[in-house]
Amino acid sequence: MTLSHGRPYLAIPGPSVVPDRVLQAMHQPAPNIYGGALADTVRSIITDLKTVVRTQHQATIYIANGHGVWEAALANVLSRGDKVLVLATGLFGLGWANMAERLGAEVEILDYGNRSDIDLAQAEAVLRADTEGRIKAVMAVHVDTSTSVRNDIPALRAVMDRTGHDALLMVDCIASLGVERFEMDAWGVDVAVAASQKGIMVPPGLGFVFFNDKADAAREKVDLVSYYWDWRPRAQPEDFYQYFAGTAPTHHIFALREALDMLVHEEGVEAAWARHAKLAQAVWAAFDIWGARGPAELNIADADKRSHAVTAVRIGAPEGTALRDWVSEKAGVTLGIGIGMAPPGDPAWHGFFRIGHMGHVNAHMLLGVLGVIEAGMDALGIEHGDGALSAAARVVASA
Ligand SMILES: *Cc1c(COP(=O)(O)O)cnc(C)c1O
Repeated sequence: MTLSHGRPYLAIPGPSVVPDRVLQAMHQPAPNIYGGALADTVRSIITDLKTVVRTQHQATIYIANGHGVWEAALANVLSRGDKVLVLATGLFGLGWANMAERLGAEVEILDYGNRSDIDLAQAEAVLRADTEGRIKAVMAVHVDTSTSVRNDIPALRAVMDRTGHDALLMVDCIASLGVERFEMDAWGVDVAVAASQKGIMVPPGLGFVFFNDKADAAREKVDLVSYYWDWRPRAQPEDFYQYFAGTAPTHHIFALREALDMLVHEEGVEAAWARHAKLAQAVWAAFDIWGARGPAELNIADADKRSHAVTAVRIGAPEGTALRDWVSEKAGVTLGIGIGMAPPGDPAWHGFFRIGHMGHVNAHMLLGVLGVIEAGMDALGIEHGDGALSAAARVVASA
């Protein structure tokens, strides 16, 4: 028997749940792409994106996924042979580093593995040793979605300021934008990248690059910048056809307008941060109790370093895959696979899963996910402590 018929829940860390209102906003005839209402909508979106990322500087939109804006950001600030320092705390940091290398940069990686945030002292030592200022950019991921670690970006900025190093600070906030506190200007971030399909609640297909004047000054001198990835036309929405280097992503624009209405004008960005924090605490409360007697364990031990967008869980192989399969087939919930924890093909790969709780997620959805995880552990004979669902409910009750 299956109890999966009903509304499915894709509880993976992106693409996230698309609100019905956002889907409905896309359900309309194609508009004129040469100006008029669509151009006005894009201008209003740029204003709201700046509110979400907390910047007075430039917000640009690309027709691209996260990988696309990774490349866009690098292409505007680097020349071939320039050196970058990547502070990697999971698969996404390593992926961005790989892209920089493929573009022709010289890449130094400080790899902190799968269970840790950035070791700032080590980063400081590397910056201090760079007396010739060869490092043009420091690249970090705010929330690495593979490990569910959250890095302390203001503390990283403070380290850079203390060393007096002039490198740009580039941050991937693809998983965290609209979910966790992120303050581009106040934190001294020079370039930030994000995408539509996580906390922003829009289907995959739009990427965002935010940059300040210091980053734009670097753009003046570099040789990697190309026609499509050039951010300059995207800082001038008046020339609407050039803005997207061709046809505008019409229906994604409708979707994004609706999603930003929900996030910025109805709930409010700070309230969304608080909602995600509370829901994440409910998840952790459940795992604290399950894990007290059984194999389930949160990947990031220190609660202060855990993301509010996604939770990576270690449970041992083959239980991780078995549990994901069970909740999918029996309960209508799709959990995320573990990525970057063990190589695909290695039996250990089956020992992990992730819960995405970013974007259009509320208390009943999350308590439902926790409930079916417990049911799955019971059905599969995976040992766990008792009372986890009550503990999660108490967190929700405290809201
Ligand atoms: C999802 C994600 C990416 C990659 O985004 P794509 O749209 O899949 O290219 C990069 N970085 C982080 C932190 C992410 O969560």
